[in-house]
Amino acid sequence: MTSTDEASESWAATRDASWYDRPNVRSDKVVHMAGRVIAYGTASRCGRSVLDDDSSWVPENVPQRLRCRASGCRQAWAAHPPEDER
Ligand SMILES: [Zn+2]
Repeated sequence: MTSTDEASESWAATRDASWYDRPNVRSDKVVHMAGRVIAYGTASRCGRSVLDDDSSWVPENVPQRLRCRASGCRQAWAAHPPEDER
């Protein structure tokens, strides 16, 4: 067990594009589930990105097509089915 101290309230966000030299926000608009808090912010569940917490989403409001499909995020999404597909 490595993540027993999750935030009680789940949220999701796009990655913080300012973290990258060449943000490619047009073709890489993916929303990740928030995971661990790290030194620079909040890491995505998949561990691939640092999230932009100014762009946070309620998980249920994130359409399926925008959801990060990487392992970690995918498991976290399972607890938050999208409202538009219920
Ligand atoms: Zn992700």
